[in-house]
Amino acid sequence: MNTQTIGRQTIRGTVLYGPRDIRFEERDAPTILEPTDAIIRISATCVCGSDLWPYRGISPVAGPSPMGHEYCGIVDEVGSAVMSVKPGQFVIGSFFASDNTCRNCQAGYQSSCQHKEFVTTAQAPLLRVPLADGTLVATPGVPSGDLVPSLLALSDVMGTGWFAAHAANVKPGKTVVVVGDGAVGLLGVLSARQMAAKRIIAMSRNESRQKLAREFGATDIVTQRGDEGVARIKELTKGIGADSALECVGTQESMMQAIRSTRPGGSVGYVGVPHGVELNGEELFYSHVHLHGGPAPVRRFLPVLIDLVWNGKINPGKVFDLILPLDQVAEGYRAMDERRAIKTLLRP
Ligand SMILES: [Zn+2]
Repeated sequence: MNTQTIGRQTIRGTVLYGPRDIRFEERDAPTILEPTDAIIRISATCVCGSDLWPYRGISPVAGPSPMGHEYCGIVDEVGSAVMSVKPGQFVIGSFFASDNTCRNCQAGYQSSCQHKEFVTTAQAPLLRVPLADGTLVATPGVPSGDLVPSLLALSDVMGTGWFAAHAANVKPGKTVVVVGDGAVGLLGVLSARQMAAKRIIAMSRNESRQKLAREFGATDIVTQRGDEGVARIKELTKGIGADSALECVGTQESMMQAIRSTRPGGSVGYVGVPHGVELNGEELFYSHVHLHGGPAPVRRFLPVLIDLVWNGKINPGKVFDLILPLDQVAEGYRAMDERRAIKTLLRP
């Protein structure tokens, strides 16, 4: 054991104990467990909308659970089998570690990797990333501080918005509806814009989020929800519906809003983790709508998204409207829970 290892035997990290009980407490520092592991020194991490499901007690929590699955930072140490990243590089990885070689990975579905592992301890200063070669992508160099939020966003929220647009078959000149004005929905707007959609209708009733949606490329805002929201979309699309809908919430209402806002032959990309969503087979049958979604294979999109951020083409880091030191993580969760913040960035 070298002195460096002795110097970091414990760290403080984020743990959820139960509904609205977030603690920042001491635990063992991560170490290389497998030769394919890497240890990352976190530059920035954040709170995910999906972290709010267990935080609110909607998803059950079985005992104290370490939190965090969005990360970027400097490689500190790699296992003996790691070839593609090395200490000192700035890297981004997905919330699912993947080998990037199995059949599912080769098909572009790294979040269904046959060897996938969910990353759950990223709201901490040091992180162990399994399957480092398949999971991590290095940036062209160590970024300046102002690029870090946008690079961090690629780890989940931007990759997820991008996948939603991809799954919804967004094409140049088309009309897109985005259901959900959380960070993923807003970045779905940005993604649709980047994919050259002509009309992007954001569904939001929150003024500051509407503003950001417009900045990201929304051409129309619809404040109504449910059936009224669908009626408004139909009004805006000559009674037909949108070519593509991005579902970025995961409730029954948001899913139906997305499906019913889509024209026959159109596509819904759904990335909100469904909670109690049930679909009626007959309605689906007669809707003629394509459905595709699931946990975003963020790893597939990392190279292209890193390139877009690195070259200043997109600035997804704008969704972070609250930046806190990591030890104030509990306030970061509270602010998002109370919708005072869209998304909290945490700096170790
Ligand atoms: Zn795989």
